Amino acid sequence: MSSTADVIIIGSGIIGSATAYYLAKKGVSVTVLDAADAIGSGGSSRNGGGVRQSGRDPRELPMVMWGIKNIWPTLAEELDTNVEYTQKGNLRLGKTEAHLKTLQKLTDSAVACGLDVRMIDGDEVRAINPYLSNEVIGASWCPTDGHANPLTTTLGYYKKARELGARFITGEPVLQIKKLKGKARVAVTPDGTFEADKILVAAGYDTRALTLPLGVDIPMRKKKSECLVTEAEPPMFAQMLGTAEADFYGHQTTHGSFVFGGSTGLEPFGLMAEAVPGSTSLSAPCTCRGIMKYFPALSDAKIVRTWAGWTDASADGIPVIDEADGVPGLYIACGFSGHGFGIGPAAAYSLAEVMTGGEPPVDLAPFRCTRFKAKI
Ligand SMILES: Cc1cc2nc3c(=O)[nH]c(=O)nc-3n(C[C@H](O)[C@H](O)[C@H](O)COP(=O)(O)OP(=O)(O)OC[C@H]3O[C@@H](n4cnc5c(N)ncnc54)[C@H](O)[C@@H]3O)c2cc1C
Repeated sequence: MSSTADVIIIGSGIIGSATAYYLAKKGVSVTVLDAADAIGSGGSSRNGGGVRQSGRDPRELPMVMWGIKNIWPTLAEELDTNVEYTQKGNLRLGKTEAHLKTLQKLTDSAVACGLDVRMIDGDEVRAINPYLSNEVIGASWCPTDGHANPLTTTLGYYKKARELGARFITGEPVLQIKKLKGKARVAVTPDGTFEADKILVAAGYDTRALTLPLGVDIPMRKKKSECLVTEAEPPMFAQMLGTAEADFYGHQTTHGSFVFGGSTGLEPFGLMAEAVPGSTSLSAPCTCRGIMKYFPALSDAKIVRTWAGWTDASADGIPVIDEADGVPGLYIACGFSGHGFGIGPAAAYSLAEVMTGGEPPVDLAPFRCTRFKAKI
């Protein structure tokens, strides 16, 4: 097989599928290749659905704030898909003075970037969400944060991109990217070769293995993250919740189930969890212990399913969104470090602009791949 397009995208997650959509909307011919048998079956269909600005690295804020203002509110209409976007705010909760200090620091840096976020006390927290326990003594409150359905969002982009002519091929792992006349032009798969003027690698952690032979190494770690979903409960609240300690985060979905993610607190001990592909016995109980302290009303909720996914944690916690240094035609979008869903649409929109010679809506300088080079 040998096939040509203007752009080849490797990876059909939120980044690959959304970039395919924004490129196809501009009349660019796109072929998306994914190793898996289903679209978006990496982190993009397994995440906690948080669409938040608060708690982020200030370098990401202009991009995510732009996306939350300009893309998310009308995305369902644009994709003709119920992405279940709910913009009812994010409470990041604290139970100790040390937590409040952490939250204050995050809040101060976000306010300096122009984000509407403020610290509130325990009474104000319970006025917003009466289900939270008296152990919560304060929180950061960002009214413009929210959540959405990762599966329908990713598939919505896929569906619209296809309608606009983009081609998606699943079960097609890219083994190698080859240069022709000094430019990245060819994606090699077990079935043959695909040629294009430009190649975007949006393959999560696996991006690293694909760009390394071309001399571009993005320092990243593969990190497991787990989620759980409860059976449907009556409507209780619409905010996204998180904590200063990041021991759990979550929200109630539009059909009533709660989706929660969290950490065990045992990660520094090198859990065996990293060695197996699925969810483990440790994560859900640890996450639930956290939830029950903050949120006693859910103590009897039944968990119906748990799952795990991999995240691509970059060395400095923010993504690379850039044309590769020294390899013309090669674009890279990876290292979203466990929070790439909320920022994904804005990152994809920006990539489509850059790849067609346009102006991205925000400065992409913080996302250059050269930032990891040794400074003399
Ligand atoms: C449990 C969990 C909870 C999370 N919660 C949140 C949250 O609440 N909010 C938030 O913003 N983010 C969250 N994230 C992070 C978010 O899901 C990711 O940052 C985001 O989905 C990354 O999208 P992506 O398109 O870069 O990668 P992925 O969705 O991982 O897509 C990469 C694709 O590349 C394909 N691929 C890999 N190698 C090759 C190859 N050689 N050839 C062809 N295809 C290849 C894979 O099959 C995959 O489909 C969470 C992640 C997890 C795992």
